[in-house]
Amino acid sequence: MPDAYLNLNVRGLGASATLAINERSAQLQREGREIYRLGLGQSPFPVPEPVVEALRANAHQKDYLPVHGLRELREAVAEHVRSTQEIDVPADGVVIGPGSKELLFLTQLVHYGDLIMPTPSWVSYAPQARIVGRQVHWLATTRENDWRLTADELARFCASDPERPRLLILNYPNNPSGATYNAAQLEALAATAREFKVLVISDEIYGEVEFSGGHTSIARFYPEGTILSTGLSKWCGAGGWRLGVFCIPEALFWLRDALVSAASETFTSTSAPIQFAAVRAFQGGVEIEDYLTQSRKVLRALGTWSAQRLREPGAQLPLPEGGFYLFPDLTACRRRLAHRELRDSSSLCERLLEDTGVAALPGTVFGRPAEELTLRLAFVDFDGARALSAARMLGEPDEAFLRQYCGRVVTAVERLCDWLEA
Ligand code: PMP
Repeated sequence: MPDAYLNLNVRGLGASATLAINERSAQLQREGREIYRLGLGQSPFPVPEPVVEALRANAHQKDYLPVHGLRELREAVAEHVRSTQEIDVPADGVVIGPGSKELLFLTQLVHYGDLIMPTPSWVSYAPQARIVGRQVHWLATTRENDWRLTADELARFCASDPERPRLLILNYPNNPSGATYNAAQLEALAATAREFKVLVISDEIYGEVEFSGGHTSIARFYPEGTILSTGLSKWCGAGGWRLGVFCIPEALFWLRDALVSAASETFTSTSAPIQFAAVRAFQGGVEIEDYLTQSRKVLRALGTWSAQRLREPGAQLPLPEGGFYLFPDLTACRRRLAHRELRDSSSLCERLLEDTGVAALPGTVFGRPAEELTLRLAFVDFDGARALSAARMLGEPDEAFLRQYCGRVVTAVERLCDWLEA
């Protein structure tokens, strides 16, 4: 009975849902099946060349760095946020960690309060809260509003116990919905968060791949209560490098100090060569701007085409505004799916993988009701390096471009549509 010796908070906690689907896909692939990997949300693009060069040049860096992070990197991040968001982020408030996931976890550990977040939300926030013994509350959204949290809903929830300490995690562009928030929506949410003294972690890891290039942070409207979270994993194609960033305002330095204490007793500091290379990434410049322009162009074209195609057999979903995810709701196909005994999102995704080779994640792992027929598709199964150089030469990607350079995603979407119509 080794289970009896496990901390109650982690009993029955499986591997992260994203990793599990990845393993199942890999297994089917080993058995010779063609698998379309739309499960794991990894950037398809290579790390920009100047950043790779900076890593090469810093391979010899071997010392432990300060627990907060390399001074030069903290300054580069603060400058980057200042110039893109026009907010004054102090370099002293920048904390570097081995992935933003770890910083999110340690913040949940040191902060005393309930976790609140819209449903759907990214798969790891709630399990992290559970591990550290925090209560989790999902906030209602509607598909009609592209699964966005509204200020009214936040106020309605907080008003039931106005003094209760709470941490809201808001992620946009959103994983899984692909939607984002405009300035007016963020301003309204900010006013409510301020009224109820809600601490906001604004997970903007997809901010740089907002398709218009005009990502806006809620920190502009609620600077004293917002921690801006980002990193290299998505816009810089460097998930495996493991570098995440928190920007913490002066009013929250009490929380920064606790976070840094926890960091000093756990990961010590983030990999030194990676931090030196990250300075180059956050400094930006012409080459990196071009890389981002081409990335956004490809992602927008592919996301839009896929969403429109999925609407043909009846899927309901917003056109994506950033990032690399779609969150179709197949409620309109419920009858046809029920004939195949598919009545919940988990069996839907299992059968979809078995029948078509398309790997996707069920809506239930994002906090949606188990019987709701939603799923997340990560449209990343293509050779990003090839697509980027073609996009640079060819201008706006049309359908022929997508078939040639993102063919596996196109095929996967078509297979899913055919499967729905069968
Ligand atoms: N937030 C969201 C919404 C994500 O999708 C991810 C990665 N899948 C993360 C945070 C974690 O990113 P990392 O730890 O690589 O910085």
